[in-house]
Amino acid sequence: MKIIARTAKPLDTQADVLCALVFAPHASKKAGLAAPLAAIDRALRGALSEALKQEDFTGKKDQTFNVATLGRIKAKKLVVVGLGDPAKITATELRTAFAKIARLANGEKAKTLAIALPDGLEPHFRAIAEGLCLGAYRFTKYLTGDRKPKAHLTQVTLSTTQKLGPSAKRSIDTGIQIAAAVNASRDLSNEPPNVIYPQTLAQAASDMAKEAGLKITILDFKEIKKRGMQLLQAVGQGSVHEPCLVHISYVPEKSKKRLIFVGKGITFDTGGISIKPAAGMQEMKHDMSGAANIVGLMQAVAALKPDVEVHGIMACAENMPDGNAYRPGDVWTSYEGKTVEIVNTDAEGRLVLADALTYAHKLNPDVLVDNATLTGACVVALGTTSSGWYANTEEGAEIFNAAVARSGEQMWRMPLLEELRDQLKSDVADIKHAGDRFGGSITAALFLREFIGPTKHWIHADIAGPAMADRTFRWDPKGGTGHGVLTFLAMVENADAAV
Ligand code: MN
Ligand code: ZN
Repeated sequence: MKIIARTAKPLDTQADVLCALVFAPHASKKAGLAAPLAAIDRALRGALSEALKQEDFTGKKDQTFNVATLGRIKAKKLVVVGLGDPAKITATELRTAFAKIARLANGEKAKTLAIALPDGLEPHFRAIAEGLCLGAYRFTKYLTGDRKPKAHLTQVTLSTTQKLGPSAKRSIDTGIQIAAAVNASRDLSNEPPNVIYPQTLAQAASDMAKEAGLKITILDFKEIKKRGMQLLQAVGQGSVHEPCLVHISYVPEKSKKRLIFVGKGITFDTGGISIKPAAGMQEMKHDMSGAANIVGLMQAVAALKPDVEVHGIMACAENMPDGNAYRPGDVWTSYEGKTVEIVNTDAEGRLVLADALTYAHKLNPDVLVDNATLTGACVVALGTTSSGWYANTEEGAEIFNAAVARSGEQMWRMPLLEELRDQLKSDVADIKHAGDRFGGSITAALFLREFIGPTKHWIHADIAGPAMADRTFRWDPKGGTGHGVLTFLAMVENADAAV
């Protein structure tokens, strides 16, 4: 998408839709419309002020209405959108508001959109650009004929009466790059599982790394077996698509900190021998969302060029029932060296993550973050609008909490209840990989903690609810595919000060 900001009258812009943004309280009943509206109203010969009166428009958040333009201005449609109290406006609120505006423009089949901004939004241009690109996102690759959308929003012009500073364009470009990275994660997650399997997921990571100038290492099945990553091997060996481990790295010249992000890349999760019920199984194509987030995150990191080292690790496998599939009752030796008794082959995510966490801690991170569509239990606990996350130190929790606050993504901290660790005791191996029905998200986190080695700060994010919710093509801070990337990026951007 192309986004241009300019100091100009909004009426001078040729666009399919003109959107006028208004802060509350807007004096709808009185004369004297807010700056962007007055000129539009004159051009419409008072039709706007008349409509404002009828609609009882106050400019409160999410208040929207359309005005017919009757050929009196260049845009075919005029949409007025309320932004609420200017004193309470935040980057998160604006990102969400502009995402909605982009969706609205797509709904109107607009290719071009002009937005008349109220004064004072220039400091938020990055969030505004992010919102527009995230909101305009659709996944239409497999639609043909009438199903193919006729138009897609490709150009947005932001017009303001204020003089723009030199950084305005840079902020917008950064926002576009970040949103494009998040949208790349969303594309991968939305692709069907016959298209995205471990090799093609690794190939996508490889294409991105090449384009972005990042280093990438891919451990194939042979290498996984050679290194003794038996948990990743066990999960992946039931599929004709062999498992792999992907390591993407961004290493700037002088870096004081090393952040490592790990993602679960189960490209399809049937549950394996402990097979899932048929209903809803198609959603399991999203079970690689954690790994998809790594691709998007690393793409954004390459664009931002922070002065800290960032690594992204993806544990990729397909969990299938097969003559060669791993079984409940199996005992496998992890890369960490601990033996693991398998009790349910549908609890495969924590197994591939365990070996990936061992691989990660060997790189000595200052902070280690994993993210995964890990447990239905987390969705039961928090619903589909929030991820859950765990931290092994309060300092690490503060760092992550600050990142969540900056991104605005909905993520709630969960407790590592030590008493539940007993559920993981095994009679035949060092540890069992899953507990009973109760506290399933917590026991999954406690299992993962066994594999972080000497890492001081570890965060585990369970993104199952938001990433698999049926809001795939929408974007808002409460989820959809790509959920988590903005938070991880906020950690990277503030790592120097925080860790
Ligand atoms: Mn599973
Ligand atoms: Zn899974």
